[in-house]
Amino acid sequence: MTTILSNLQAVHGRIREACRAAGRAEDTVHLLAVSKTWSAACVREVAGAGQRAFGENYVQEAQGKIAELSDLALEWHFIGPLQSNKTRPVAENFAWVHSIDRLRIAERLSAQRPPHLPPLAVCIEVNVSGEASKSGCRPEQAAELAHAVAALSNLRLRGLMAIPAPVTDATLARRSFARLRELLEQINDTGLQLDTLSMGMSHDLEAAIMEGATLVRVGTAIFGERLAT
Ligand SMILES: *Cc1c(COP(=O)(O)O)cnc(C)c1O
Repeated sequence: MTTILSNLQAVHGRIREACRAAGRAEDTVHLLAVSKTWSAACVREVAGAGQRAFGENYVQEAQGKIAELSDLALEWHFIGPLQSNKTRPVAENFAWVHSIDRLRIAERLSAQRPPHLPPLAVCIEVNVSGEASKSGCRPEQAAELAHAVAALSNLRLRGLMAIPAPVTDATLARRSFARLRELLEQINDTGLQLDTLSMGMSHDLEAAIMEGATLVRVGTAIFGERLAT
């Protein structure tokens, strides 16, 4: 077996173990394979092992890969920072966007979503670690933004996403994830029905699963160390 495929198996093992420790069914956590910087051939190899959902951060890089792999039934997730002049190719080529941090981006994606495609699934990115991180809306803005996004016709708001600032302490890592979960619960109390908590990466997926992650975004632990981003 190749390194990538044994890495993928190891990640499945970590998810299984974390679900067991958290008392959760394994099928409540979905794996997003983050393929940024890796070639279409690498993605094809992982897809061959049954992985369907792939995450990309850079619009141009992703477009090339998506075209090259159009013979496979893959589900592409945009997870990087999104500028308003780049929304059209994202609305046209992706199934999900995890990084909605302001209404203007969501409005453009909804307007540009081709009518023959299902609504674009989206998550609102929340900055749960304050000054240490720059991306995402502030937690106190999230509910209002969620209601505005949920009203857009060609989007389907699924939940919240966070990239907590790196910490060495596992207890601190869990605190940020818990904060995102509590925020999702608060927003659902105001009448929305969000089902997705996109949180946890290669180094902290266990902590995220303990706090309720339904989707973990894993790059390095599957594909290896990225040379540059
Ligand atoms: C790169 C990236 C990941 C994957 O990170 P790894 O540490 O390589 O697992 C997850 N989420 C986002 C938003 C990313 O940009």
